[in-house]
Amino acid sequence: MKQGIPYGRQYIDEEDIKSIIEVLKGDYLTTGPYVKKFEENFAHYVGVKYAVAVANGTAALHLACLAAGIGAGDEVITSPITFAASANCALYVGAKPVFADIDSQTYNIDPSQIKTKISAKTKAIIPVHYTGLPCDMKAINEIAKEKNLMVIEDACHALGARYKNTKIGDCTYSDMTVFSFHPVKHITTGEGGMITTNSKELYQKLLLLRSHGITRDEDQLKENHGGWYYEMQTLGYNYRLTDIQSALGISQLKKVDWFIQRRREIAEMYNRGLKDLPLELPFEPEGCINSYHLYVIRLKKEAKVNRKELYDYLKSKGIYSQVHYIPVHTLPYYREKLGYNWGDYPKAEEHYRNVLTLPIYPGMTDEDVKFVISKLKEVLK
Ligand SMILES: *Cc1c(COP(=O)(O)O)cnc(C)c1O
Repeated sequence: MKQGIPYGRQYIDEEDIKSIIEVLKGDYLTTGPYVKKFEENFAHYVGVKYAVAVANGTAALHLACLAAGIGAGDEVITSPITFAASANCALYVGAKPVFADIDSQTYNIDPSQIKTKISAKTKAIIPVHYTGLPCDMKAINEIAKEKNLMVIEDACHALGARYKNTKIGDCTYSDMTVFSFHPVKHITTGEGGMITTNSKELYQKLLLLRSHGITRDEDQLKENHGGWYYEMQTLGYNYRLTDIQSALGISQLKKVDWFIQRRREIAEMYNRGLKDLPLELPFEPEGCINSYHLYVIRLKKEAKVNRKELYDYLKSKGIYSQVHYIPVHTLPYYREKLGYNWGDYPKAEEHYRNVLTLPIYPGMTDEDVKFVISKLKEVLK
């Protein structure tokens, strides 16, 4: 009997498994040579100077906010159509998350909306490359430069995506870029994350913050009592990635171009198969390459069924679609503690009401894709 089709899942092969066993037989389990190698390979892949591996994407966002100097009384602008972590990171450092509504064609944060949300307290913009489609980074970068704001890209969906002649993660239009290696993302380390930057100063801050604010680097020590000596110079965390996870990351990264190619093939099959149905399909603006972490459809008004009916129907056929996302400002914590409410961001809320994420992952077969298309036709035609 056929198992259900999830909206996303990891792809692990024998090479991945072997690479982990290798580490288990060696001298280091946590910070060792594989962390460094994973960071180097990752930096090389996205085309950036520095990469810092951390425990998960949320920790990456938290440390990026700290390194950016965001703190109490500051405001940070992000999209309401994202995972809560993109906004929670501002709360972790005592700042206030402020949202700017989305563009109804790309579903990404709208630069003209960002402009209306900037105040004297605004310190940073966190654009989220939703589904793997790059935001309008040129426009966002221009706004940031004019207002002297930091830009932290949340690229948890966008490993391998391209914007004009740049690769997401190379920080051409930002100070830092953040990635996640949760199993549904492009590559996985179980849990894991990465921060990339071209700034040596930010890089050194991130290294310090990742491990308790402690350094043993002789060049940075204020005193030196001998070989055992270390200094805690700032309040940091234990947000380290292990060597075991890094070995898996190195092995996964070797396959990333194939992963993305396969995701784009599946997206192309959906684009062709669904084009006559009452659906809005993903839009890829000129100069952008979507790396399709998610394939998102929107039901048009004339559709015979609503979103919930469509979700339930697919589920009854073993197709586990998802909804990305419940707008962050409408989550009870955000309404009760921060004073946001339904109605604050109409385009994001309109998106939430009509959107559905179809299954897409490298191990998905053509038959699986055709099956999903046929079920959608059954109920929508
Ligand atoms: C997955 C994700 C995160 C958080 O990453 P974790 O590794 O799960 O902590 C943050 N932002 C976005 C947009 C994500 O999709």
